[in-house]
Formats: sequence, structure tokens, C-alpha cells
Amino acid sequence: MSALSFDLAGRTALVTGSSRGIGRSLADGLAAAGATVVLNGLDEVRLDRTRAELAEHHGRDRVHASPFDITDEHQVSAAVSGIEGGVGAIDILVNNAGIQHRVPMLDLELDDWRRVVEHNLTSAFIVGRAVARRMVERRSGKVINIGSVQSDLARPTIAPYTAAKGGLRNLTRAMAAEWAGANIQANSIAPGYIHTEMTQKLVDDPDFNAWVLGRTPAARWGSSADLVGPTVWLASAASSYVNGQTIFVDGGMTAVV
Ligand code: NDP
Repeated sequence: MSALSFDLAGRTALVTGSSRGIGRSLADGLAAAGATVVLNGLDEVRLDRTRAELAEHHGRDRVHASPFDITDEHQVSAAVSGIEGGVGAIDILVNNAGIQHRVPMLDLELDDWRRVVEHNLTSAFIVGRAVARRMVERRSGKVINIGSVQSDLARPTIAPYTAAKGGLRNLTRAMAAEWAGANIQANSIAPGYIHTEMTQKLVDDPDFNAWVLGRTPAARWGSSADLVGPTVWLASAASSYVNGQTIFVDGGMTAVV
């Protein structure tokens, strides 16, 4: 195996929720590895600003934007057709966009449960199905689902997120079960506690911050950059026999009690 196995030149990657946070870093990292990237988000102004910023580094022809709602199958279907027709065949899909909602389960509204599960689990099915239908025909593709340490472990006040990320781990296995024979590798990355806008309030909370630092063997919050190497690996030929796995990138958090 040579370093060329990690080269993504000539590949097109769609990264959902890449206008900011982890998704933005992953798209930036995939572009640095040679891929043409398609960014996604809901806020079109923020999305276009990110597109312009990444295009300064990687070139306008290698950074595109596609605003659509990952929970709406009609928008997803139209967007995937538009990307495949306008940018190119999607070789790499990163199902990254997700949301959080913190409230004790006894006080949790059903609508909020549904919203969190829709965004963190059902969306990966909707976008994954739309893209994989084309990947299966081409007999080639990479799907990377962004899970969480909650793919494996629970914590109070985030029941729907925990249920959804655990479900995403098994959806990843289901994707591998059905699509690996068509030369599609579907895997998941499960980040530990990463400092982004989603977690800014937790970083600012002295008690929570101390808990993360004490609970993580690496004794620090992760950064989005920590997730880039594993993502490039799972997006590249270097992982061609890795199927249905969840890779924890968590500073050792899930390895210890
Ligand atoms: P952010 O809240 O920083 O960013 C979320 C992104 O998702 C934004 O680009 C947002 O777009 C987009 N988005 C939200 N809803 C939709 C939708 N319906 N359709 C399309 N795009 C949408 O999140 P993070 O970067 O922190 O998290 C990214 C992923 O990583 C999530 O799946 C999260 O669960 C996971 N994760 C995060 C951890 C962390 O510590 N931060 C730890 C473990 C996992 P817009 O800007 O338009 O709102």
C-alpha cells in the first residue's frame, strides 16, 4: 500500500451539514486530499460564505454548495440529481448533519424526540438511500455516518440523541449488509466531545468542562481536525475492506470507565 491509496483526486464528496462545525472541517480535509466537495446546510448565507472561504484554498471548481433539508426526501432527491448532473457522480457521502436537544426524558416532548431522531438517524437513511441507489449502479462508493460516543454509551438528558446515534451504528451495519456486495463501504466515525458551536455552551460550563477533561484519557476536548484523518481513510481506497464498522475517535473515552 502506498500513500496514493489515500489520494482522493477525481472523487466527488457530499458532506451534509458542512456550512460550519465538524462537517466544514471534514469537507476541508477531503478537499485537501484531492476531492471535489459539495457543501450542504440550511442557512444559505452561511453556506455560501463557507463555500467562498473553502474555494479560496482549493479552487472554485472544487468547492460547491447545495442547500437542502436532509429530513425532506423530496429535497434530498432533487439535490442528489442536481449534484450528479451539475458537479459529478457522488463517490463519497458523509452523513454528518445532526442536532442536539438536552432535556430530562420525563420532560421530553414527543415532537422534540421525533425532530432529533429525524435529524440524526432518519436523515442518514434518506440521504444514504438516494445516493446509494446510484452508487450501487456504478458498483462503487463510500458512505461515512457521523455517530458519537452516544452510539455506544448513554448520558442523562439526551435520550433521543442517544437512541438515534445508537441506531445510526446499526444502520451503518445494515448499509454494509446490503451494499458491501456492490463495492460500497459504509462505516461510521464516532467522535468524542469536540469543541464546536454545538458544544460551546458545554465548553463554557465549568462543571461540564471539568467532567470532559477528567473523563477523557487524552485530557482535552477533541477538535474537528482530529476527525479528518479517519475520514480521509474511510473515504479512500485505503479502507476498501472495512465494512459496517464504527471507529471511535474520542481520546480514549469509550475505552475506560
Ligand atoms: P453544528 O451544530 O456545529 O453544525 C450542524 C450542521 O448541520 C450545520 O451545518 C447545519 O446547517 C446543518 N444542519 C442542521 N440541520 C440540518 C438540516 N435539516 N438539513 C441540512 N443541514 C442541517 O454541529 P457539529 O459540527 O457539532 O456536529 C456535526 C455532527 O457531529 C453531528 O451529527 C453531531 O451529532 C456529531 N457529533 C458532534 C460532537 C461534538 O462534540 N460537537 C460529538 C460527537 C458527534 P445550518 O448552518 O444551516 O444550520
